[in-house]
Amino acid sequence: MNTTPDTFHDLHLRVPAGLWAALREHCRLTGETASHVMATALAERLDIEHHTIYQVSTSGALVQGVFQGCVTVGDIRRHGDFGLGTFEGLDGEGILLDGVCWQARGDGTVRVAPDEALAPFWVATHFAAEKKYTLDDITSWADLTARIDTLRPGANLFAALRLRGQFDRVHVRAACKSAPGADLVTATRHQAEFRFEKITGTLVGFWTPAYARTLNVPGYHLHLLSDDHRHGGHVLDLEAARLSLELHTEQHLHLVLPETPGFLKADLTGDPSAALAKAEGIQS
Ligand SMILES: [Zn+2]
Repeated sequence: MNTTPDTFHDLHLRVPAGLWAALREHCRLTGETASHVMATALAERLDIEHHTIYQVSTSGALVQGVFQGCVTVGDIRRHGDFGLGTFEGLDGEGILLDGVCWQARGDGTVRVAPDEALAPFWVATHFAAEKKYTLDDITSWADLTARIDTLRPGANLFAALRLRGQFDRVHVRAACKSAPGADLVTATRHQAEFRFEKITGTLVGFWTPAYARTLNVPGYHLHLLSDDHRHGGHVLDLEAARLSLELHTEQHLHLVLPETPGFLKADLTGDPSAALAKAEGIQS
């Protein structure tokens, strides 16, 4: 192994003939260099893409009603196997779990979102749990989030969270497709809300530090997908006797900004926290 003084290093490797032939054929077909293919494969093998949030657009733009899709579900799935978001026109709640993207709509149905579907806002990661816990007797959203607060490594790192188990009670909403020009608070005023009892499922989501409030929804943001894939939505409240919690901290942020007319014209200078709290929390 030789090293050069800059940020690249030369590797001299021995690989089996079959792998070598496959590498050459891949490079011939795609035009990629062998170095690029090896670097990508090593990054994947060594977990380099883990601990990276891939985010599309910003919470500030969402508050301003920038609901036009700018990336496809296929693009998102290339950058993560886990996450949440919404669809063009605020058409329901998105749940990305084990590499499959689900769409929970305002009419209460859940379907697999096609790869060509467009999204205006999304947060994804390659989920690899670092820590696992069991939480007993969760009485409410406030109780759950207060307990997770004590388990996260401080207030300044992003974290991905996966919770599984049976919910004695879970209250979710699913955004309904919005009229053009509506902002987030107006658009979520006619959201559909659903209450389920004794339902097993997974909560998928993130904790975002307060300092990042113009980029992502600050605090906890979780979406539900039931095990039978028939129910889902943005979680407002819950109660559960026992849930497993898996935590994955994130140190890298890959932010994709839309070039849509709505994003280019939007006034993103304000603090969206109050509007986010109103749109994403329990509606009075
Ligand atoms: Zn949500």
